[in-house]
Formats: sequence, structure tokens, C-alpha cells
Amino acid sequence: MARQVSLRCGWRTRFAPSPTGYLHRGHLAHAVCVWGVARAHGGTIVVRMEDHDRVRCKPEYERALLSDLEWLGLIPDEGLSSLTRHGPSAFRQSDCNNRYASAMEALRARGLVYSCTCSRRDIAAVVGDAEGDEARYPGTCRTRSAAGPGAALRLVLPPDVMRFADVRHGVQQQCPAEQCGDLLIRDRRGQWTYQFAVAVDDLAHDIDVVIRGDDLLPSTGRQLLVRQMLVEGEPSAANRVLLFLHHPVVRHPDGTKLSKAASDTGIAELRRAGMRPEVLLADAAKQIGFTDVGDQLSAGRLGALFSTYCSWFTSDGAPAH
Ligand code: GLU
Ligand code: ZN
Repeated sequence: MARQVSLRCGWRTRFAPSPTGYLHRGHLAHAVCVWGVARAHGGTIVVRMEDHDRVRCKPEYERALLSDLEWLGLIPDEGLSSLTRHGPSAFRQSDCNNRYASAMEALRARGLVYSCTCSRRDIAAVVGDAEGDEARYPGTCRTRSAAGPGAALRLVLPPDVMRFADVRHGVQQQCPAEQCGDLLIRDRRGQWTYQFAVAVDDLAHDIDVVIRGDDLLPSTGRQLLVRQMLVEGEPSAANRVLLFLHHPVVRHPDGTKLSKAASDTGIAELRRAGMRPEVLLADAAKQIGFTDVGDQLSAGRLGALFSTYCSWFTSDGAPAH
């Protein structure tokens, strides 16, 4: 069972989509959780565009995501005006290169970052083909000084076991050094990785509660470890406990995840076809277990729904136990 952790007044959470496609029903179920929990328990919602992957992300997807959210009545408390005005934003990863570079430099100055020239195939040759499982980087370049323009960057991970509280799953333990080995923080194309950017951003955006799908549960320990390494020597940040809620992921009847691929109808398309936002929100709430919501649910009712029917958190904002 999750341990009781009280949240500070004005606690912060985030909605952090990657604009690699249009908003779909999987995102919507996720958004219902974020807005439901935050509105029920006094949280502030920060929106962040996770467009660290410069190949797959597109500005038109970002615009469409924000427009669909507005149409649904899901209005974030922070980040939106910055993302919608012209120019760079502190809430868009592709505009925050300096933030990641200075975090990396601080770690490098402590001897914790090294260059890696291994390809996927090189790694598989050492650790075998992981087949669905994650390949653990064997540390080949740790002592090799393999610099060069096409080199990736890795972070030396200590063998710490990370413990964290998840509101649904209870206390979790993960050892990132065993799961993934030294963490890739910048890839060979020079792009910051999801794991690194999220750890840096959750600190920069002063996040208290991370709400996201169960598929990201294995990432949590490593993000916490990066965070721990980043805040070393900064007691105020180090003392802040992050709380997690990993919610069920919406799947097709055959068990596969919904995706942004064209085969999964986007919200924009349903919107064009005349579907009402209330119908979509009711559908999304059902997908994550609120089976009695009826046929229509407005965004304004999410807080009441979660405070009445959701046992994930108690009414003072602490997780149920
Ligand atoms: N950007 C990630 C996604 O769209 C979510 C990351 C997170 O919540 O940590 O899947
Ligand atoms: Zn290497």
C-alpha cells in the first residue's frame, strides 16, 4: 500500500505530451487523470511539450494538441500562454537546450558523463539481443575516452536502489544501473533523451506529483536517480519528495497500446465529425475505470468526480492507504 505523503499547498503536476501526432483517446484518458486529480485536490497543472525528438515532433501537432485540449475544456494553469505566443518557451523542450546542456555540464564537471560511440548492434554483440526486454548498456566506453562529433553521451549510474511511492502500486524499488546501465543522456544525433530531459524539466518546473501511464513505470527509478544526482548539494531541492501515480494505459481489445499512428482516430477527427467533448470525456473516464459516469462528462465536473469516486487520493490530497 502507498505510504501517506502529504502534498504542499499549491502542489504541481504536469501534462507532458510529445507532439509526434494528434491527440488520441489514450492521451485523453491520461488527461482525465491529470485534470481529475489536480482539480479534486488543489494541484496546479503545468503543460510541457516534450518535443526532444526533433525528427518525429512537428509544430503542427503541438498546435493541434493545444487546440484539442482547449476544445475539451482542459485548460492548464501554467505554460499555455508561453507555448501559444510567438517565440521560444520554457515549456517546450526543443527551446530548452541550454537547460539540458548546463545540467549535463555540471554532471560532466563531476566526472559523471562520458562519450559513447557504440551502436545498437555493438551493444547487442556484448549483452545479446534483448528481445523486448531492455538492453543493459555494458559500460564499454566508460574507460575508452571515445570522443568524436558523432558520439553519444552517457551518465555513470551508481548502483543505487531507488525507492518511491506510487499511489496505485504502493512502494516500488528499481535499480537503474541493473535495468539499463549507464544512461544515455544525449544520442548520436545530438538530441537529449526523454529520460534526461524529463528529469531536468521536472526539477525546473518544480513538479511534486507525476501522473502518467503504467507503461512509464520502469522509467521512474532512473529519472529519480538523475534527479538525485542533479540536486546533490542542494538540500532544498533534494528534500522535495516526488509522488507518482501510474494509471492504467488504454489498450485495444487485443492488448496493444493506442498510438498516434493514423489507425487510431484522433480527437481532431472526431471533433470534425461532430462528436461532443462531453461524450469523449465520459468515454475516457470509463476507460480508466469510472464506469458509472454516464454518457456525458464536462471538464468542469472532473474534480468532483475524482474527489467523490477515486480512492487514489484522499480528500486532503494525500494518497489513500
Ligand atoms: N512525453 C511522454 C509521452 O507523451 C510522457 C512523459 C511523462 O509523463 O513523463 O509519452
Ligand atoms: Zn559505448
